Amino acid sequence: MPAAGDGVRLGAELPKALVEIAGAPMFIHAARPFLRNAQCVEAVVAAPAGWEPRFQQAADREWGKERVRVVTGGAVRQESVVCALAALISDAEFVLIHDAARPLVSEAVIARVLEALSESVAAAPVIPVMDTLKRTDGRGIFETVERAGLVAVQTPQGILRAAAEEAQRRARAEGFEGTDDVSLIEHFALGAVKAVAGNPSNFKITTTEDLTLARKLMELNGQCAGASGKNR
Ligand code: C5P
Repeated sequence: MPAAGDGVRLGAELPKALVEIAGAPMFIHAARPFLRNAQCVEAVVAAPAGWEPRFQQAADREWGKERVRVVTGGAVRQESVVCALAALISDAEFVLIHDAARPLVSEAVIARVLEALSESVAAAPVIPVMDTLKRTDGRGIFETVERAGLVAVQTPQGILRAAAEEAQRRARAEGFEGTDDVSLIEHFALGAVKAVAGNPSNFKITTTEDLTLARKLMELNGQCAGASGKNR
């Protein structure tokens, strides 16, 4: 789990993944449904340098010692993923990579990604794009982009572990940086990436408005100790 981002855009002094929602740090919410899944044999969280003890203490409080391992993340998301992959100790065939900034991930989305991995090298949850899309330079609008065939991509993204490791090795050698994990599989043509249904509740917390919405949704679901939209 890449969780090594800072809290600058949220105006938080803590790393974003430690910001509390409904009584628990964001990354704890994001990890809970994975740790409930019997197929998830180990969990590694990449934390910002210097904050590892805070993350490890929170994880140990939630799940007991050893269940989740905290490692030091990198300067960019992709490096944090490399750090987490390098820390795996099981012989798991697949990895699920999930942003700590998506604390409302449901068990159903995780199950769909896992199921898709039985027939493809990689899988990612997607949701339709509802707004009309335009190309702009920030001042003017030049063109309307055809929306058909476009989706917004979420995490968790599931990848055959050997392919994930090869993609990261080649990305480092080539200096390629993707904004998500399956983009490396696409870039190096390492196999098919299957799209499965995501969930609008599984949005990424970026702004203070997102944080407020996540808190309200958890309240509404009456699930202060877990993720919302379990069945979607
Ligand atoms: O900044 P943003 O929310 O887009 O980052 C997506 C995810 O990547 C977050 O969970 C964040 O903690 C993580 N990240 C990371 N290491 C970085 C930057 C971001 O693990 N250096």
